[in-house]
Amino acid sequence: MTKSVLESISESGFCSGCGVCAGVIGPTVITMKPSPRGYLRPVLRSELSAVDNTMVASICPGIRIGLQADAVAYVDDVWGPVVKLRSGHAVDPELRQQGSSGGAVSALSLHLIESGQVDFVAQIAVSKNDPLRNEVQCSTSKADVLRAAGSRYAPAAPLERLGEFLATGKRFAVVGKPCDIAAVRNLARVDSRIDRQIPFLISFMCAGVPSMEGTHELVRALGMQGDELQSFRYRGDGWPGMARAVSRDGRVAEMDYARSWGTILNRHLQFRCKICPDGTGELADVVCADAWYGKDGYPDFAEQDGRSLVIARTARGEALVTEAMGAGVIAAANLDISEIARMQPYQLARKRLVLARLLGTRLRLGWMPKFRGLRLLRCALRASPLEWLRNAVGTYRRAVGEVVR
Ligand SMILES: Cc1cc2nc3c(=O)[nH]c(=O)nc-3n(C[C@H](O)[C@H](O)[C@H](O)COP(=O)(O)OP(=O)(O)OC[C@H]3O[C@@H](n4cnc5c(N)ncnc54)[C@H](O)[C@@H]3O)c2cc1C
Repeated sequence: MTKSVLESISESGFCSGCGVCAGVIGPTVITMKPSPRGYLRPVLRSELSAVDNTMVASICPGIRIGLQADAVAYVDDVWGPVVKLRSGHAVDPELRQQGSSGGAVSALSLHLIESGQVDFVAQIAVSKNDPLRNEVQCSTSKADVLRAAGSRYAPAAPLERLGEFLATGKRFAVVGKPCDIAAVRNLARVDSRIDRQIPFLISFMCAGVPSMEGTHELVRALGMQGDELQSFRYRGDGWPGMARAVSRDGRVAEMDYARSWGTILNRHLQFRCKICPDGTGELADVVCADAWYGKDGYPDFAEQDGRSLVIARTARGEALVTEAMGAGVIAAANLDISEIARMQPYQLARKRLVLARLLGTRLRLGWMPKFRGLRLLRCALRASPLEWLRNAVGTYRRAVGEVVR
């Protein structure tokens, strides 16, 4: 039997785990399940029809991302389309405190709900039954948005219920990682409901998704086991906020962000994230990120009041941000584009090296994803030839797919 495109994507390590295939084709055919390596992957419950196969090939962001920049945007080689760039925070102190950075994503989400522009916001939140599990939530209130606030550095499939949400006929916004947003844009090319029902796509910069094993290692480093937890968060409740585990018998353990992300979680990233051409959410209407203050040439992770980088990438995104500022929902000041490199050095480095990594992937696996409009060649020309070669060779060695690793 010939392999379905879905199986080829997963086996090559190109799946990002967004769940769009399951969301669109439906849970009777595809469900998202944890893989042996602790990532979320689509599992086939029955054979894919030829039509479904073609659909997966055209919407999967693991193998296809194409940027068509909004006509009003300036397109920076590294940072992508920018209509306006600001740094700021949610004015509501609770949203700012609970948010990962300055709570801007949460503030914009709540504004969309309260102003009636959407019926709900589809976003990831911690499961009510399992403090380590992420699930899709339809937020319709401040309490919902607060429950979803904060980054969850583990597999999450925001699009696994997309078909169900579209079938309601309601209007909603989607919050997701850059690959999640790219999947919705891919779908918009073949499903006219997307433009009618999803007026806003909000994203955040993403360095990559760690496996569940990363979370378990973090929990163990905090002196606990996953099955004894009452609650767990990766960060938030401050900026950057502590990773915090609370056991059912009331023990509390914390770890700062520099250690939790920098020494544990970032060693568990899935392969697709290492060859990601868009860590900065170029296809979103608005993208937020940590507006880190620099210290000695590196971002400073000392605890302080939260600050978000807020980039409006489309005219629609800019209208949302200015409206939210006018309504007193977000406070923000203009920022020069040269500031982003100091705040996001990892994103700058990866964008320059992605083409080298893709080349290593192509040579090893015989195929690679199709990424268009993301200026990878122009960015590659800014990297040092030695670094470029090292990354191409390193990826050639590592790109062995998910089945045999
Ligand atoms: C895996 C991962 C990697 C990241 N890498 C970077 C990075 O390189 N640079 C950077 O500046 N920021 C990164 N962030 C994002 C950053 O931590 C903040 O989320 C971002 O700055 C927005 O902050 P905020 O306070 O506006 O968001 P908040 O108001 O706290 O809202 C966060 C939103 O993110 C959603 N969310 C949380 N976890 C996930 C998930 N796993 N999948 C989909 N949606 C999720 C929540 O539903 C919520 O809507 C990353 C986040 C994640 C989850």
